[in-house]
Amino acid sequence: MSQLEPKQLEERTAAALLDTYARTPFHPRSGKGARLVDAAGKAYWDLLAGIAVNALGHRHPRLVKALRQEAGNLLHVSNLFYHPAPTLLAERLVAASGLARAFFTNSGAEANETAIKLARLARPGRSGLVALEHGFHGRTMGALSLTHHEPYRAPFAPLLPGVTFVAPNDAAALEDAVSDETSAIFLEPILGEAGIVPLTPEFLAAARRLADATGAALVFDEIQCGLGRTGSLFAFQRVNVLPDLLTLAKPLGGGLPLGVVLVNDRIAAAIKPGQHGTTFGGNPIACRLGLEALDEIERLLPRVRELGAFFGKRLAALRRRVPAIRDVRGCGLIWGIELDREAAPIARELLSRGFVVGTARKNVIRLLPPYVVPKSALAAFAAALENILNSITDPGGSGGPRIAPPGEQKP
Ligand code: PLP
Repeated sequence: MSQLEPKQLEERTAAALLDTYARTPFHPRSGKGARLVDAAGKAYWDLLAGIAVNALGHRHPRLVKALRQEAGNLLHVSNLFYHPAPTLLAERLVAASGLARAFFTNSGAEANETAIKLARLARPGRSGLVALEHGFHGRTMGALSLTHHEPYRAPFAPLLPGVTFVAPNDAAALEDAVSDETSAIFLEPILGEAGIVPLTPEFLAAARRLADATGAALVFDEIQCGLGRTGSLFAFQRVNVLPDLLTLAKPLGGGLPLGVVLVNDRIAAAIKPGQHGTTFGGNPIACRLGLEALDEIERLLPRVRELGAFFGKRLAALRRRVPAIRDVRGCGLIWGIELDREAAPIARELLSRGFVVGTARKNVIRLLPPYVVPKSALAAFAAALENILNSITDPGGSGGPRIAPPGEQKP
């Protein structure tokens, strides 16, 4: 592949690709573990992991070896035929989750799209959907209908009708919204794009009770928070509430595009051949990498818990010391640091100091590090953030505009 100078690449990207992403001028070219190296040879701690995809970090030897091996056999085979990789991966996911069957997709949105269809099949004639304010489920038309952020939705109206949004952790509002007309309740056990907002065990249990009472399907979207990120394989295992459908993606294919919807027996019984499908779903290489990734993720779970406990304490101490930090939320290796100002300028400053981080909403620094991240990188990040926030004296300057706390905001 021809090498392009960063500036030239930025210009050609702007001319060749649709203007859908507000890209950061950052040019990663290689990586190892939790390290990324840019085109100029500068090394960074990757605390975003491709938005939760690279759970095992970069260039994991097991993934590289399996990729080489499988590529020597087949790059693709139709899912109208048989290949052991999707079957073995489905067996593992089903056994680990307590659900019954799997359907592989190419992305998270496609997994949610499939879940909407399956819920309708299981309750013909009911089409109502209930989702959460600030929740995110993807950008395809069905998944977008469940995604709350108005600027994402408005240009594409009309979306699916009959979607009701309720505030996270408001069990009374959920009870008002769910009825006999509800086909499915869609929840992220930890809301990601909302700025890392964990749902309470009480709220998740209420959702389970309401689904049981009305016959609606309970869908957990663990595309961002699942597969080890919380320190348990599935986020729902921390609260012991089993959904009827579970959607996963991001780290599932070890870096290759792969999503899945896992369903219980009742939902599985509703579908017949020909009612749903996707050409690339269950690609043998992606599923083989998924098997390797799953082994490693399971092995790393105690490490994620230990790092989460360490980092949580470090961030809580930071919050007590640094007035610009309003809140710290998360567990394991999924964390949101809510600031009293815009997060993007802080993220840019962190990048210049060698830390790749994400943002969510306007004022949240979002961290989704790989499970192999060293403790020292998390400690170094906390020190750099403290230094940056303490050095900002001008709220309208390099730190970006200050965002008023909810109590001070005009309605
Ligand atoms: N659901 C959640 C919770 C997500 O975080 C995302 C992506 O960020 C999606 C769905 C959509 O996944 P994809 O981008 O693979 O379509």
